[in-house]
Amino acid sequence: MNDIKVGDFVETYDVIIIGTGPAGLTAGMYCARANLNTLILGDVYDSQLAKAGLVENYPGFPEGIQGIELAERMSQQATKYGALIKPTAAKRIKKDEVFSVTTVDGVVNGRSVILCMGARHREPDIPGAKEFQGKGVSYCAICDGALFKGKDVVVIGYGNGAAKAALYLSGICNKVAVLCVYDSLKCESVYLQRLEEAKNVDILYNASIESIKGKTVVEEVQFSTNGKSKTLPVDAVFIEYGTMPNSVLATDLGLELTKNGFIVANRRLETNVAGVFAAGDITGGRRQIATAVGEGSSAGISAIGYIKKSRTVNLK
Ligand SMILES: Cc1cc2nc3c(=O)[nH]c(=O)nc-3n(C[C@H](O)[C@H](O)[C@H](O)COP(=O)(O)OP(=O)(O)OC[C@H]3O[C@@H](n4cnc5c(N)ncnc54)[C@H](O)[C@@H]3O)c2cc1C
Repeated sequence: MNDIKVGDFVETYDVIIIGTGPAGLTAGMYCARANLNTLILGDVYDSQLAKAGLVENYPGFPEGIQGIELAERMSQQATKYGALIKPTAAKRIKKDEVFSVTTVDGVVNGRSVILCMGARHREPDIPGAKEFQGKGVSYCAICDGALFKGKDVVVIGYGNGAAKAALYLSGICNKVAVLCVYDSLKCESVYLQRLEEAKNVDILYNASIESIKGKTVVEEVQFSTNGKSKTLPVDAVFIEYGTMPNSVLATDLGLELTKNGFIVANRRLETNVAGVFAAGDITGGRRQIATAVGEGSSAGISAIGYIKKSRTVNLK
């Protein structure tokens, strides 16, 4: 991608957006279009959006669009209006007169911040999962599926993530088993129907996963259904066990969090700290691209209002 503008940090930005998923990029586009001096921190290619594979439920793309292409288009739209995307991670954030964000490349200051750090995969406590990570255990079918072309693989999970991973892998691998931990998949019915129609996909319900085993790489998964222990020989295990929020930075600012670590924000995406807004998966809720975009736009509009108001106050 050539159009992402990276450059030197300026002294104090009107708004610093942390996170380069659909929420952060949309918020950035809104703020930059309103002439706010806008900095977006993060790696566009590390977002869930970039790893989502074919997206069929984002409006405006009746044929579907690859997540990575949508991510690049959103980045281009934000930078077109003047937002600066810096592919660096925020490590700490502090509020004094302004907000100062410590990144691996230095400290940047902002009059307001929008937190859009999204979510990361949940790692269930399955014996062997850690040991074999990168040796047959993966948390990203889109990233690693091609390594197991023509092989037998298993997907462990229960929701849209597991269903999408299994469908994607069914087009590459020889056989795909889905070990669903519940008595049904909690996914969109369109995905379930396609899985049931796929010739090389087998769904096993009520699976209690016992361990992932092998010598140097994954060779088998042990699990039980209805009290019976079983062993499935496989070359790879894709774990799709839901996500958890990347909200560590929120604690630096004393933000109110839910018991599961999501940032509490009102309908205007304002948090309990003035000048701090949050959007996307980090606030919990439906956790979709369309909802992240909706919240990103709303948080952007709120930040624009906050900055305009603070400018008026400063002029008095
Ligand atoms: C495999 C998969 C398939 C999916 N398929 C669909 C689908 O078909 N349709 C749909 O609607 N949704 C889908 N989703 C869900 C969707 O991708 C998310 O709901 C959406 O991307 C959330 O957007 P976000 O901006 O909140 O966060 P994310 O997309 O998670 O982006 C967060 C960004 O913040 C960055 N970040 C985190 N911490 C820091 C930090 N400290 N400093 C700087 N940057 C940071 C991350 O690197 C990342 O770039 C899928 C998700 C996955 C994982």
